[in-house]
Amino acid sequence: MPELRSEAGPSDPEGRQAIRENVRRLCRKFPDEYWRAVDKAGEYPAAFVDALTASGYLAALIPEAYGGSGLGLTEASIILEEINRSGASAGACHAQMYTMGTLLRWGSDEQKGRYLPRIARGELRLQAFAVTEAASGSETTRIQTTAVRRGDRYLVNGQKVFISRVKQSDLMMLLARTTPYDELTDKTQGLSVFLVDLRDVHGKLDVQPLELMLNHHSNVVFFEDVEVPSENLIGEEGRGFRYIIDGWNAERILLAAEAIGDGRWFIDRAAAYGRERVVFGRPIGANQGIQFPIAQAFAHVEAADLMRFHAAARFDREEPCGAEANMAKLLASDAAWEAANVCLTTFGGYGFARDYDVERKFRETRLFSVAPVSNNLVLAFLGNKVLGLPKSY
Ligand SMILES: Cc1cc2nc3c(=O)[nH]c(=O)nc-3n(C[C@H](O)[C@H](O)[C@H](O)COP(=O)(O)OP(=O)(O)OC[C@H]3O[C@@H](n4cnc5c(N)ncnc54)[C@H](O)[C@@H]3O)c2cc1C
Repeated sequence: MPELRSEAGPSDPEGRQAIRENVRRLCRKFPDEYWRAVDKAGEYPAAFVDALTASGYLAALIPEAYGGSGLGLTEASIILEEINRSGASAGACHAQMYTMGTLLRWGSDEQKGRYLPRIARGELRLQAFAVTEAASGSETTRIQTTAVRRGDRYLVNGQKVFISRVKQSDLMMLLARTTPYDELTDKTQGLSVFLVDLRDVHGKLDVQPLELMLNHHSNVVFFEDVEVPSENLIGEEGRGFRYIIDGWNAERILLAAEAIGDGRWFIDRAAAYGRERVVFGRPIGANQGIQFPIAQAFAHVEAADLMRFHAAARFDREEPCGAEANMAKLLASDAAWEAANVCLTTFGGYGFARDYDVERKFRETRLFSVAPVSNNLVLAFLGNKVLGLPKSY
């Protein structure tokens, strides 16, 4: 199949194409069998994450001054897209990119100097990001986990849910409440971001793995008087919600790229199967009932990809991109899910068989509509903040 122009992005196609090819080469060392096996065993894909770390691609967003590649979000998104397109799941390691939006912008020079070179060298993993709580759900400004200052440290108490990769990380970015909700006039204030060094608090954190429909290493995390040095507070106390929001646009664009990668994987597999599988004496792809849904899903994935590159370009030019980042996430997750269903239909009964990997990717891609933010909340953002409609919640 011819490579589409949009694959390389709207500008500098050569440099970006080189990134694609290098990531593809690395991913070929981790074929379907590898991902099937870790999925079945519920294991963390440590060998893959180690190889990706050694390649330097996980440090794409870390500035060169701190030992990273200093690439833009566009390039970072291409890396994650290619991982997912290869049949892998970037969910094992993408938080190291997500968290950069907050750390690079709001972390102090001292914090960046202390952690970024070691993250870039692969000595430290920053793969955990702790925001969600059971009682507050999508309403982040209602979180209840507290961080109370005692001298030169904060004492953290509370509970987080769905916190991924805590056991596989050295560092965790944490959002906690530093001012009680009822004392605030502006409810977006009173939350603070901390970089928790998990090596110091292992044994003090109670980490309970969750069994989920996909291999994601998510946990319920209980904090009881967990000490975090005040030097690990990012930015100013009470402004953490703002700092996390700054990371959200990057997160949505990166996740959109992962969904695009999945969408292309499903289209590739569905088209290949449609050409090869012969029933009633001809390839099933000759039937419009099979062919047209694949073509339709393909068009939707490609259209979503244009919004992803548009959003990423705005982000890299430091232009406002909240609307574009949210639309990219919405369109890409919808397109990937459409492609997933089309692929499953194309494979018939074999779509349910583990050996074909469609069912695994089907489970993995479904997450994009829900996490890290559900598409309903994306629509609420577009309706209210972009279109000026009344707030629906
Ligand atoms: C595999 C996995 C990994 C995750 N990893 C992490 C992680 O590492 N760190 C982390 O902090 N979190 C993580 N999460 C949590 C994830 O971000 C949340 O699940 C997500 O933000 C939704 O929150 P909730 O599950 O509490 O849903 P709820 O807020 O309870 O929402 C439930 C449903 O109601 C809808 N809804 C709620 N309010 C409205 C409204 N006003 N208008 C319309 N619809 C509404 C939502 O769209 C959703 O469909 C993970 C989740 C999963 C499943």
